[in-house]
Amino acid sequence: MAPVTATFRFYEELNDFIARPLRRRSFSCVCPPAATAKHMIEALGVPHTEVELILVNGESVGFERILEDGDRVAVYPKFEALDIRPLLRVRAEPLRMIRFVADAHLGGLAQLLRLAGFDTLYDNHYADAAIEALAAAEQRIVLTRDRELLKRRTITHGCYVRALKPEAQLREIFGRLDLAGSARPFRLCLTCNAPLRRIEKEEVADRAPQGVLERHTQFVTCDVCRRVFWEGSHWRRMRALMDAVVDGVHAVHAAPPAAGGAQ
Ligand SMILES: [Zn+2]
Repeated sequence: MAPVTATFRFYEELNDFIARPLRRRSFSCVCPPAATAKHMIEALGVPHTEVELILVNGESVGFERILEDGDRVAVYPKFEALDIRPLLRVRAEPLRMIRFVADAHLGGLAQLLRLAGFDTLYDNHYADAAIEALAAAEQRIVLTRDRELLKRRTITHGCYVRALKPEAQLREIFGRLDLAGSARPFRLCLTCNAPLRRIEKEEVADRAPQGVLERHTQFVTCDVCRRVFWEGSHWRRMRALMDAVVDGVHAVHAAPPAAGGAQ
């Protein structure tokens, strides 16, 4: 088979993954015979989990589309505030339940996601294969700063986290996955990822300091670690952080990317 030359254009933040001279412009690339769209996109450096929409010659196609000579390939990232479902071909419906598995470097982010009420598995001993297996078995979104991990075949939903600090990472993930409306703060134990439940003051008696028992009436507990939580100053700081993240995301959403990404 003759070699195939296709023209590529990557949009928005997908440009962060590709070689500098190729960013934000169309370029031609010689593809191996029978190369798929997915193969070429990943060969150019972009994990397929970052891709939401591929247009070839203006038509939405799936990852397995075989590229032909002269094809024009436009590749788009996830759109945050835009419903592009009618155009979606690359994978089936978005995940119904939003839950995560975070890689070993994202412990801070994992705790903040739990604080916001999102079921997030994290263990700093997780190997890549374990993360891949958990994602597939429990339909979890993989959060990582390792793009090689996102190229693994069975990982269908993943997010490459760009920010470096946990709070900024939380804002980034909230923005990209539109989580503000789904947050349920103080539902999960930060340490165990287990549900918190209300507990009567009488049951708390031996598990909280006397001063706390005098000042507070509402308590919750985790049945795994048996710790008791109340609305003290730590709780209020966390509440302020949650409010700031949710508000900040709404501000970002005021300016969604242009439809079709024609730029
Ligand atoms: Zn716990």
